[in-house]
Amino acid sequence: MNHRSDEFMTLVQNAKKVLKKNLAIPKDYEIIFTSSATECWEIFGQSMVSGSVQSFYNGAFGEKWADYMDKLGVDVVREPFSIQESCPVNKIDSKSEWICITANETSNGTFLNKDVYRKIKENSPEKLIAIDATSAMAGLALDFKKGDFWFASVQKCFGLPPGLGVLIVSPRSIEKANEIKEDNHYNSFLNLLRNTQNNQTHYTPNITSIYCLYRTQKKVGLTSDVESKLGERFDHWSSFVENQEGLDWLIDKPELRSPTVLTLKCNEPERLQEEMKHHGLILGKGYGPWKADTIRIANFPAIRKKEIRYLMHALKTHGNF
Ligand SMILES: *Cc1c(COP(=O)(O)O)cnc(C)c1O
Repeated sequence: MNHRSDEFMTLVQNAKKVLKKNLAIPKDYEIIFTSSATECWEIFGQSMVSGSVQSFYNGAFGEKWADYMDKLGVDVVREPFSIQESCPVNKIDSKSEWICITANETSNGTFLNKDVYRKIKENSPEKLIAIDATSAMAGLALDFKKGDFWFASVQKCFGLPPGLGVLIVSPRSIEKANEIKEDNHYNSFLNLLRNTQNNQTHYTPNITSIYCLYRTQKKVGLTSDVESKLGERFDHWSSFVENQEGLDWLIDKPELRSPTVLTLKCNEPERLQEEMKHHGLILGKGYGPWKADTIRIANFPAIRKKEIRYLMHALKTHGNF
């Protein structure tokens, strides 16, 4: 299929339709395909901001996004917070036009629960809100009305190979971009918008990936149902960790723990990883500052029940914590 053909435009139209239904995306929001979440960080800083941005983060991905905005010359007000505390929504400043948050901080296994979005919207209804939802979208039911610029890559909860990003924007985002009129790059937001309104993409995309996105989403159905299943599995993991000597949560408060990325403390994670290799299992490393004493386990929808059982069994019988 060539990416300017009628066949491709039909595929994009169908993929957007199933995403709107499954993810419960409002009718007047627009869906745009990009190459990755990282590209969306850049698109945002480049095309969406005329004033300043207030960036709330407690981990590596949120911080990197702020760094990219800095490099692009955006005025970023940084609001780092502890991994053991809820996002400090009481610190929202009055002058920033955008608030940037990370739905699920993949580096340390924290997430923002529904209260955070509600409070931001209640306290600051006039603000525009950008959300890196990379390891949440398609796994957790997100309330898209609570934000304006949402994005994710497909290799996390969509369960697909990497190399495709999904960007979902509100009418207010589109208004903002039209006001700023930044249009100097191949991936300037206005160019993305023109293309998606025509069911095309601003770049030559991985068409196979868009096709697989369409087919898998057709099959998995509503994200709210997926979220319930992940919740059950998460509870199963919680009781496992509870009963497993030597394994503990990095995050103390249960309500701050991400349902999709489990980050667990243990002694000598490298040795545990070595042992798990003998079972044919690649255990996720900790990230950055948490590398020396944590492991990360994905609770992504594409992982099967029996695979989780196998991993739990391997940890139980051979895990030397
Ligand atoms: C994985 C991830 C990214 C980066 O995704 P890419 O596909 O590498 O661009 C960004 N933010 C979060 C929160 C992530 O989990």
